[in-house]
Amino acid sequence: MNNTEFYDRLGVSKDASQDEIKKAYRKMSKKYHPDINKEAGAEQKYKDIQEAYETLSDAQKRASYDQFGAAGAQGGFGGGGFDGAGFGGFEDIFSSFFGGGGASRNPNAPRQGDDLQYRINLKFEEAIFGAEKEVSYNREATCRTCTGSGAKPGTSPVTCGRCHGAGVINVDTQTPLGMMRRQVTCDVCHGRGKEIKDPCHTCHGTGHEKQAHTVTVKVPAGVETGQKIRLSGQGEAGFNGGPYGDLFVVIQVQASDKFERDGMTIHYRLNLNFVQAALGDTVHVPTVHGDVDLVIPEGTQTGKKFRLKGKGAPSLRGSMVGDQYVTINVVTPTNLNDKQKAALKDFAAAGNIAVHPQKKGFFDKVKDAFDDL
Ligand SMILES: [Zn+2]
Ligand SMILES: [Zn+2]
Repeated sequence: MNNTEFYDRLGVSKDASQDEIKKAYRKMSKKYHPDINKEAGAEQKYKDIQEAYETLSDAQKRASYDQFGAAGAQGGFGGGGFDGAGFGGFEDIFSSFFGGGGASRNPNAPRQGDDLQYRINLKFEEAIFGAEKEVSYNREATCRTCTGSGAKPGTSPVTCGRCHGAGVINVDTQTPLGMMRRQVTCDVCHGRGKEIKDPCHTCHGTGHEKQAHTVTVKVPAGVETGQKIRLSGQGEAGFNGGPYGDLFVVIQVQASDKFERDGMTIHYRLNLNFVQAALGDTVHVPTVHGDVDLVIPEGTQTGKKFRLKGKGAPSLRGSMVGDQYVTINVVTPTNLNDKQKAALKDFAAAGNIAVHPQKKGFFDKVKDAFDDL
């Protein structure tokens, strides 16, 4: 392919050095500058020179132009020849020449306000049965004085004179790639497209003010630590008439001094004295649903588990209720008085109280080793 058009516009040869191209560009753009040259067609010629120089002054674009023609050099930054080498990639180019890319989205568009997060502490039982909690916090809300317009009451925002309501303006900048046109957020209205001549005294034109806010949170039965409840519209005020953000209430459940919870299951540890364990008994056992009587059979051992059906926590969704497990711990008596000791000796003498024979364990082996000494 023979692409010489851009070279011809500047009046240089195809193998011209960067210096020659620069000199030619200066000379030609002076000659055809619309402020100087009033001839018909001069303005178009000037634009053509700018276009040619934009491509040929950049080594990458020039190489691409030589290879693919104008389409290669100008087919957008994603096109052939411009792979971003030496610029750190596509993103960097945007942030360098297009004002951080922020201007690419319409700043006038309604935008939802920020979400907020609030942590609430629940008692162990509140998490099981559910609760209603009032939470109070400060948030950015719509200004009450100006109802969000930002203008002093009795006045209204007017269409911005600088951007004519677009919220963005075009700025021409000389860059290493030549003259670049970029869109930036309007510096007068800051993207709102409207100008406030007489700002509201409460919010100074932002349309937002900090306000104390209280909402009632309905905590469902069966919640657990770390779960979140979303309250739509209870976050911060939106922008350009956009909706409020949401409030996320994060659950933190306090530990209980009696119970441990594992999802829908509640665990309880019951201490028994060795007489209760040996002879059996009926004992009151606390549950989150109230005390229940538990029958302990004769000869109950430490570690034995009893299930109290339906005495656990409810499922968060659905109507199931978990169980409570009671784990037995037999406590060996200490500080026996003489009468008790005598009774136990009589007890021992009354019959065989040996525990079931066990295989030789570690401690027996240690004991054997000492016996040999
Ligand atoms: Zn503006
Ligand atoms: Zn206001």
